[in-house]
Amino acid sequence: MQRTLAIIKPDGVSAGHIGKVIAHIEREGLRIAAMRMEHLTKGEAEGFYDVHRDKPFFPSLVSFMTEGPCVLLVLEGENAIERWRKLMGATDPAKAEPGTIRREMGTNIERNVVHGSDAPGTAAFEVGYFFRGCEIHY
Ligand code: GDP
Repeated sequence: MQRTLAIIKPDGVSAGHIGKVIAHIEREGLRIAAMRMEHLTKGEAEGFYDVHRDKPFFPSLVSFMTEGPCVLLVLEGENAIERWRKLMGATDPAKAEPGTIRREMGTNIERNVVHGSDAPGTAAFEVGYFFRGCEIHY
C-alpha cells in the first residue's frame, strides 16, 4: 500500500475540472485518504517546489500556483505513485497520452491541471508538507 500527494492546481479548479479529476481517481480505484481546498501562500508554494528554485520558470510557477485555490489530496493504493502519474500524463499536455488528465484538460507545460509526487521519498515529504497524520484516513 502506497500514498501519494495529488494537487488539482488553480487552473483546474477555476476551469471547473475538480469533479472530472476526482472521477479519474475513483475510476482507477485509488482511495482518497485526505482532501482539502487551500489557497497557497507564496511561501508555501516556494517551499513545495524548492527543488525547482534555480529553474528559469520558478517565479512563474509560484505565481501560477498562488493565483487561486488548489485542491490537495492524499491518494492511497497499491503502486499509487505510478498509477496517479499515469492518469495525469506527461508534464507537457501536448505530449501527454490521449485520455490522460493533462491531455484532456491542460493548457500548456505550466498550466497542466494536476500535480503528483514522483517517487516514494518525495511523496513522504509532500504528504507531510500539507497534511498531519490525524487528517489522513484509513
Ligand atoms: P511534473 O512532475 O510532471 O509536475 O513536472 P516537474 O516536476 O518537472 O515540474 C513541476 C511543474 O513545473 C510542472 O508540473 C509545471 O507546472 C511546471 N513546469 C515544468 N516545466 C516547465 C517549463 O519548462 N516551463 C514552465 N513555465 N513551467 C514548467
